[in-house]
Amino acid sequence: MSQQHSKKSESDVLMDIQGLKKFFPVKKGLSRLEKGSTHVKAVNDVSFQLRDGETFALVGESGCGKSTTGRTILRLTNPTEGKAIYKGQDIFQFNRKELKAMRKDLQMVFQDPYSSLNPRKRIGQILEEPLIIHKIGTKEERTEKVMEIMEKVGLQMEHYYRYPHEFSGGQRQRIGLARALVVDPKVVICDEPVSALDVSIQSQVINLLQRLQRELKLTYLFISHDLSVVRHISDRIAVMYLGKVMEEAATDQLFENPLHPYTQALLSSVPLPDPKARKERMILKGDIPSPLNPPSGCVFHTRCPHAIEVCKQTAPVMRVAGDGHKVSCHLLD
Ligand code: SF4
Repeated sequence: MSQQHSKKSESDVLMDIQGLKKFFPVKKGLSRLEKGSTHVKAVNDVSFQLRDGETFALVGESGCGKSTTGRTILRLTNPTEGKAIYKGQDIFQFNRKELKAMRKDLQMVFQDPYSSLNPRKRIGQILEEPLIIHKIGTKEERTEKVMEIMEKVGLQMEHYYRYPHEFSGGQRQRIGLARALVVDPKVVICDEPVSALDVSIQSQVINLLQRLQRELKLTYLFISHDLSVVRHISDRIAVMYLGKVMEEAATDQLFENPLHPYTQALLSSVPLPDPKARKERMILKGDIPSPLNPPSGCVFHTRCPHAIEVCKQTAPVMRVAGDGHKVSCHLLD
């Protein structure tokens, strides 16, 4: 984590996500199975702010709603409720034309870029496409821009004429990055960008992301289930469980002093940098409940080792527990 980023303050807010909800309707048969539930509550009242130039991470187990949060902010799927304020305007109110303009500023990098790379197009054409869509530059200027961004992400000039199937996983992720960055975005939503890669390639891509962030002054929303990766790259972290944020803090704060029982359980399973240091592993009982029928009160109460009676009935509110440290747990009341 860079010193420069840790000094970002609330006055640098670039994007403000307020009360975001995304519910998916379910088919009739399934809703009968789940006693009349009609919607999967994938994201249920999530709020956070992205600060200019930082890496803000959303972490949690698979199905916690972190990827849906990223996709909804970009309007790849429409929100059920909430606001996403960017440059003073609510993205969720944008019409088609406004959305197109916004997508130049906000780009996304996916876990598996291969599935979104047209196998019949050469890399040069794939990278030029976003520039054509946004009507940027002449043919010559576009070619120059594509070459420039290829160099920045570590691709060779000869790759310009190659097809996606000719590349390794790490190189494809570089192509995915180049495609996102060719239009000079401000914010990049990185959805599990290294989870499909080998560990040695992972660190190369992470280092590349960090270098590009410095050079191009990018802000990242980094979505991952991998706490070791997130610890390395992010300035601040929000921990999600069953569609809700449980805890939010600066990265060092979260790792040194996790306050929410779910964060404590997640962190207890991460290997420590010092092998001599010991910590007790906290094993959570049971499976993650269905987001079709989330538990009443605190959604974590069915697995929480510290649950008390009030947890079953009343949902805790997010409380400030220290400088920028927020926790949603009755134990802090
Ligand atoms: Fe556990 Fe209760 Fe805190 Fe939820 S509110 S995390 S159930 S102690």
